Amino acid sequence: MVVLKKVVIDPGHGGADPGALSADKKVKEKDITLSVSLKLGDLIKRNYPGIEVIYTRKTDVFVALDKRTEIANKNKADLFISIHVNAAVARAATGSETFVMGADKSSSNFEVTMLENSVIMMEGEDYATRYEGFEPNNPESYIIFTLLQNAHLEQSLEMASLVQKHFNNGPIKVSRGIKQGPLLVLWKTSMPSVLIELGFISNPLDFKILNNRANHDKFAALIFNAFKEYKQIYDKDYSNGRDTAAKEVIPGNGVQLFPDSNKKVVKQQSETHYRIQIMAVNKVLRSNSPDLKGRDANYIKVGNLYKYTIGEYPSINMAKEDLVSVRRDFPQAFIIVVRDGTIIPLNK
Ligand SMILES: [Zn+2]
Repeated sequence: MVVLKKVVIDPGHGGADPGALSADKKVKEKDITLSVSLKLGDLIKRNYPGIEVIYTRKTDVFVALDKRTEIANKNKADLFISIHVNAAVARAATGSETFVMGADKSSSNFEVTMLENSVIMMEGEDYATRYEGFEPNNPESYIIFTLLQNAHLEQSLEMASLVQKHFNNGPIKVSRGIKQGPLLVLWKTSMPSVLIELGFISNPLDFKILNNRANHDKFAALIFNAFKEYKQIYDKDYSNGRDTAAKEVIPGNGVQLFPDSNKKVVKQQSETHYRIQIMAVNKVLRSNSPDLKGRDANYIKVGNLYKYTIGEYPSINMAKEDLVSVRRDFPQAFIIVVRDGTIIPLNK
């Protein structure tokens, strides 16, 4: 059985790159991220002696973004947690948010994305080669991400939603939710990965909280709680390659999924069919929600996520035909297989 056994913790910035600064420039993002990261690692090691914790840095040193990714990939980590502190020109901006990799550059997420990516300009003149011609401050550069297929998006979203859920009980209660953005540090990680922005150093109230070391223990504990819950779901649901946590589907379209096999099955299709998954979100959307772009979609609830799907196809080729047009609205859409009431990875 596969279980989560290696986690990479990535304290944002470091060394010559201080990250975001407080108004008086005395408090630096890099120190807060390191403090919270080390505390988080300690909690994981203490509670799960079998889990290996790897840091991208343990001291105040500069580490390039691609090096951070490389550390995670080379170690074949099961989860990548990057910890950051936000900043905005508007001092009123407050709250925590958790990013997963995505192509969305349509909203205010882009401001954070550009800020976090701009560090590569400190990485020497070859950065453009190393990041495939990427220019952090040129919006056109972000087009390379629109072709992105993130195999680990769902698990990343799962972890992100758990972090934001636990942050509701934290020292900074405002949650800005889960965001998708083309973040270079997450781009090429080959495992589920999240980037947590604890709060805004530019906001007077957030700053007061972030600048108090006792709160670093609290942030670490909250991320740990999310990790613990994620591990439970991950070990149970993804260990044998099946989404055994698949719980329900909205009525009306064939398949019904139930929390456990002891419950009476009212209706269950045994044959295999295909659907196109367009997104996974942490809440139910209105049927006229603009996020669905006018599409007729159903959801399947798996863990804390609602996986929105389009269509029900008897053959994969029929699903593939539709996928082309669906991807015009949802570039990250992909085909899923539903068999005996559970979602099965396509490669099985
Ligand atoms: Zn940062």
